[in-house]
Amino acid sequence: GEPTVLGEKCIGCAKCVKVCAAGALEMFYTPEELELLKQWDQQHHTVEEEVDEGEKQLREMLARYRGVWVFIEQYDGEAAKVSWELLGTGAELAKSLGVELSAVIIGHKVEHLCDEAFGYGAHKAITLDAPVFANYRTKPYTDAICHLISKHRPEIILMGATGQGRDLAGAVATIVKTGLTADCTGLGIDDKRNLMQTRPAFGGNIMATIMCDRFRPQMSTVRPHVMPMPEFQVGRTGEVVREQYDLREEDVLVKVIEVLSDKGGKDIDIAGAEIIVSGGRGLMNKENFAMLQELADELGGVVGASRSAVDAGWMPHSRQVGQTGKTVRPKIYVACGISGAIQHLVGMQDSDVVIAINRDPEAPIFQVATYGIVGDLFQIVPSIIRKVRSLKG
Ligand code: FAD
Repeated sequence: GEPTVLGEKCIGCAKCVKVCAAGALEMFYTPEELELLKQWDQQHHTVEEEVDEGEKQLREMLARYRGVWVFIEQYDGEAAKVSWELLGTGAELAKSLGVELSAVIIGHKVEHLCDEAFGYGAHKAITLDAPVFANYRTKPYTDAICHLISKHRPEIILMGATGQGRDLAGAVATIVKTGLTADCTGLGIDDKRNLMQTRPAFGGNIMATIMCDRFRPQMSTVRPHVMPMPEFQVGRTGEVVREQYDLREEDVLVKVIEVLSDKGGKDIDIAGAEIIVSGGRGLMNKENFAMLQELADELGGVVGASRSAVDAGWMPHSRQVGQTGKTVRPKIYVACGISGAIQHLVGMQDSDVVIAINRDPEAPIFQVATYGIVGDLFQIVPSIIRKVRSLKG
């Protein structure tokens, strides 16, 4: 039949005109309605212009911040490896933005770290070298970095998600009133020069990309071994900017009495290992981990574990791989009797090669495995040990 327009309900939005498949509808306005539309248009236009002015100011503010910084964490003049890994990532970000990459080095007698930083890709090293900075303390380091930020205005600051980095990044972000994304697993630049910070959310079930598009600097922390180590280029140089920050020891309330290092201590750091042989609930008991240790010894690696194995008391927590354990990125990760729960995968899926041994062909660990062996680990592991020994002769 003939289409009818319900006059009392029609608000003149003209949506019907767009959706009519036959193109049979047209919208006519009375002169009064046209006048009303014109007035609305003018008001709307003014509001838009105001917004544009605000956006313009924001863009101008953002544009005043330029350059990528990596905070070089150091103990006793020795840099944390994660800082060099971040220089690799920082170099890529700086290249996409067309800006400089600076290493920020705070400490005492740390000048030698500048050359190391240049070798790992920094264009510039900004240093604060004074006895008051000899040992890391939250307040002096936070104040010093905030001072450097207000002076140099970097657009991005990266720090390691270590004890020191987490402490410092949070304090600095709070004071300079900007955003901070912790434990990023991916960093990139979007088409508006904003940093895209990707990290697992909701227990690793989704990956969230977080932006800080209205504040500067944009700050991220990244755990060790998440980003690849850049190649060291011998003889590469850069500019050293030696800064001063007026801070007297008497004004710092926290004193470092003694530094106890666990270097060479009881347990191995699996996060730094190149080969890891990990065991899960499939190992059945603590004693069977000796078999994994044997394989690890043959390969020159260390033994790791799933949380189930740690909860069962078969391995110490320091060996746990996963969301509530360590994030590892070895050259070879051997998973024995580990099902591959998402919380385990987030801690090891970036390993170069994953070899999974599991008797269940449906085990999710096979989804991230480079090589999958379906079978009984109590037969397979000993035969691998025998094979490796025979290859060694
Ligand atoms: P299971 O899931 O029980 O798997 C055992 C596997 O062994 C099975 O696939 C089985 O087929 C195989 N198997 C058994 N016998 C043999 C055999 N003879 N030969 C070959 N294969 C065999 N887990 C972590 O690992 N790390 C974490 O950091 C972590 N954090 C967590 C945080 C939260 C908030 C939560 C909720 C959980 C977390 N978990 C973590 C636990 C995780 O969800 C799993 O429960 C755990 O990883 C399972 O460990 P598993 O693979 O050793 O054991």
